[in-house]
Amino acid sequence: MAKHIFVTGGVVSSLGKGLTSASIGMLLEQRGVRVRMQKLDPYINVDPGTMSPYQHGEVYVLDDGSETDLDLGHYERFTESKLTRDSNYTTGQIYQSVIQKERRGEFLGKTVQVIPHITDEIKSVVHKLADDDVDVVITEIGGTVGDIESQPFLEAIRQFSLDVGKQNCLYIHLTLVPYLKAAGELKTKPTQHSVGLLRQIGIQPDILICRTEREISYGDREKIALFCNVPIEAVIEEKDKDFSIYEVPLSLLDHGLDELIVEQLGLRAGKPDMENWHNLLQRLRNPEHEISIAVVGKYAAHRDAYKSIYEALDHAGISNAAQIRIQPIQSEEIEREGAARLLSGFDGILVPGGFGERGIEGKVDAIRYAREKGIPFFGICLGMQCAVIEFARNVCGLTGAHSTEFEKDATHPVICLLDEQRTITDKGGTMRLGSQPATLDPESWAAECYETESIQERHRHRYEFNNAYRQQFAAHGLRFAGTSPDDALVEIVEVAEHPWFVAVQYHPEFKSKPTGAHPLFRGFVAAAVRRHQVKLERTGVQP
Ligand code: GLN
Repeated sequence: MAKHIFVTGGVVSSLGKGLTSASIGMLLEQRGVRVRMQKLDPYINVDPGTMSPYQHGEVYVLDDGSETDLDLGHYERFTESKLTRDSNYTTGQIYQSVIQKERRGEFLGKTVQVIPHITDEIKSVVHKLADDDVDVVITEIGGTVGDIESQPFLEAIRQFSLDVGKQNCLYIHLTLVPYLKAAGELKTKPTQHSVGLLRQIGIQPDILICRTEREISYGDREKIALFCNVPIEAVIEEKDKDFSIYEVPLSLLDHGLDELIVEQLGLRAGKPDMENWHNLLQRLRNPEHEISIAVVGKYAAHRDAYKSIYEALDHAGISNAAQIRIQPIQSEEIEREGAARLLSGFDGILVPGGFGERGIEGKVDAIRYAREKGIPFFGICLGMQCAVIEFARNVCGLTGAHSTEFEKDATHPVICLLDEQRTITDKGGTMRLGSQPATLDPESWAAECYETESIQERHRHRYEFNNAYRQQFAAHGLRFAGTSPDDALVEIVEVAEHPWFVAVQYHPEFKSKPTGAHPLFRGFVAAAVRRHQVKLERTGVQP
């Protein structure tokens, strides 16, 4: 029977619960424990697909096409846990399902209530993951303990241990131990209060993971242990990591977290094998090159809006022994200041995905600059669509070329809706979503990077390249480097006369891992390193 770990968060949001949960999953996997990861989000949206990245950061897409919370990106990057639609539930989904059951008459005669109907539904989605080939299900509860909307989730996980037995459940609470400058000391009171709230609900945490800027003294740990009713060895410090998030699992290991979990749940586990991870940090600490990449997007100011892209660049940096300075640039700023002023000096330019018209012309200008100056360019989803628009206008001479997303009656609709998308009116979950196959041109950079001619990549878009223009583009030197296997959809375009210019309709960033950078990110960063070295040679500086 599978065991369960529930991870809750206290005091403030943004404590890095996702990263901590992913690290726990990874540590257990490295000890031979088979893990499944899950996130329960208390907001009412059915999924985050309809939320602005300003609200919620990026939307992370899984193979099966579900649009999920960005924490699932941490889970996939850190663990081998197979993620599906069942790995992320929101209040919206839970209620939707209960209401559908009510309409079908499944509760005939009864009053449908939060307890037991909503809580039962929550428990059932946790149970769903606990199949025969899983040892531990790790369920992270979104939000902060004390929020009104997370209460049904906490109530459900409290009941869970009654149902399956306390010995099969472990409650881990991630909390903050802030440093007060004026007092010159760490403060444990917020943690005491947060645990107090959990205990009011009936949950006694087994382990406290304390986020802190400074080392927590033995005395403070003793105090936390006493007031929060946990043994002192279950008060685990998680100090901020200035260097890299990849240090988090190692530091939790150093503080004995994995051992504690293994003991408390009575798991059969081997010794942790962290060699890969140590090697990775070693490479990260000893870069041979230093390059800079501009990410030109609409949500540049939001740290989490392009989370997986930044991560994938870091992975590619590790595999190329390059330290990458990633510079987010607001595309509207390019409209005001000009591409040359903001982009000269970068070794690579990336234009990520997005929606809506704001900042489009800035992206097009950035791409023109990259193309004309021979700067390695990587376009992703909307970034590819903008690359097509740019090429149409400035190389093919198609004045007024645009995507019908931004100009319904464009003179040259080089990006447009497919027929099957034209009749769709609902916005939620109706895009082209999830993993789809593509076939590559063997003479392309893409094929060189992937080292294969058939790939599977994740999609999240409504608009597509307009095939009516294929020949015209090809005649002007745009290479159709990847298409759907039936050749109906363009998946990758490349500018042949360029050091490295690749734009893809899908989202490769979702399949990159720290221990295995995505081939296209690796190729892009390699091209940027080459450019950087040429620059250094020209200026006489030794690389
Ligand atoms: N807005 C574009 C579309 O819907 C691109 C989407 C994206 O970049 N994810 O096709």
